[in-house]
Amino acid sequence: MNLLANSDPEIAQAIELELRRQQNKLELIASENFVSPAVMEAQGSVLTNKYAEGYPGKRYYGGCEHVDVVEQLAIDRAKALFGAEHANVQPHSGAQANTAVYFACLQPGDTILGMNLAHGGHLTHGSPVNISGKYFKIIPYGVDENEQRIDYDEVRRLALEHKPRMLVAGASAYSRVIDFALLGQIAREAGALFMVDMAHIAGLVAAGLHPSPVPHADVVTTTTHKTLRGPRGGIILCRQQLAAAINKAVFPGIQGGPLMHVIAAKAVALKEAMTDEFKLYQEQIVKNARALAVKLSETGFSLISGGTDNHLILVDVRGQNLTGKEAERLLDEIGVTVNKNAIPFDPTSPFVTSGIRIGTPALTTRGLKEADMDVVGEIIGLVLNNPQDEAVKARARNLVTELCEKYPLYA
Ligand code: PLP
Repeated sequence: MNLLANSDPEIAQAIELELRRQQNKLELIASENFVSPAVMEAQGSVLTNKYAEGYPGKRYYGGCEHVDVVEQLAIDRAKALFGAEHANVQPHSGAQANTAVYFACLQPGDTILGMNLAHGGHLTHGSPVNISGKYFKIIPYGVDENEQRIDYDEVRRLALEHKPRMLVAGASAYSRVIDFALLGQIAREAGALFMVDMAHIAGLVAAGLHPSPVPHADVVTTTTHKTLRGPRGGIILCRQQLAAAINKAVFPGIQGGPLMHVIAAKAVALKEAMTDEFKLYQEQIVKNARALAVKLSETGFSLISGGTDNHLILVDVRGQNLTGKEAERLLDEIGVTVNKNAIPFDPTSPFVTSGIRIGTPALTTRGLKEADMDVVGEIIGLVLNNPQDEAVKARARNLVTELCEKYPLYA
């Protein structure tokens, strides 16, 4: 860091402070994680200097012999890890991956049946403010009001009624197993292509802890930086017959030169994801989420769908007479980082919300186990059940410090 501190002290200081923030707070944002030093080394490498438009063996630039090795390894590892026929590792992000799939498979004006953002879906699955909602006709599906689980009967009814060109599954705030086999069957009944965005659960899928969408979907997209614990980026997996269209849609369709340093880091993360250690890590993520869900329920919180099967929990904070926005701020003040999140049928605006989303991937990377989740649940309960009590908040802050010191990050 000395080189940077000398040449650009302001940026060096902001990075140093961000490191301290990550070390000294409890990171419970469900979509975040801490990559290994090896992943960071690859991402911070000289590969950032290289232009490599095209694909391995077919580039528009000279000098690509080494980045070809890197990209081919990333492709081969992605295919092997997820059992896919084809992989494109170039999307700069999850949003880019999804946009490339739409560009490859759809025409403007086509109909997409996608999960409602307000019920746990993602912006790129048809929100009116996203390109997906602007270019396509969107029919949203959601969860059942009582069970708060995906209403598969409604999905079938909507699919048969609207005959979408594509059914999109996957979510950002859904804590239950998604039945990809059933959704794939519904898509086929309706004559639709089936795309799964497994961004949140990719690590669980890699470890065999969530049923894989790959055998059931025409195309699967993912981010690489959530449970998968890689650098920020995206990947597209698909059947061989869509491979050429997907590659063309990514480049030259919506992107220029690939970020070879990020692709190298993706390759490193994919190799890590093939280890027994990674499988144990994913198992611990799920055990930790379950333990935290139990503790939060015992502490008086209402959990959407009653609990979790995966890495995240959606908490309704209305019982605490709080909004999601207030809960996020209160927790941030004592060193716990979460995000406010709409809950299904939320009566408030997306800027306020009635819920918070809590995930265990990052803390599990630090080494926390079920017993520690009990303490994390206690901290959240202390603060959100006593928002005016400064002594209670001080106690919670001490518990945060104890956990952070017990499980050092990037020490
Ligand atoms: N898809 C899902 C399901 C997500 O949760 C997210 C991000 O939160 C994305 C796509 C978008 O990923 P990115 O932020 O890399 O564009």
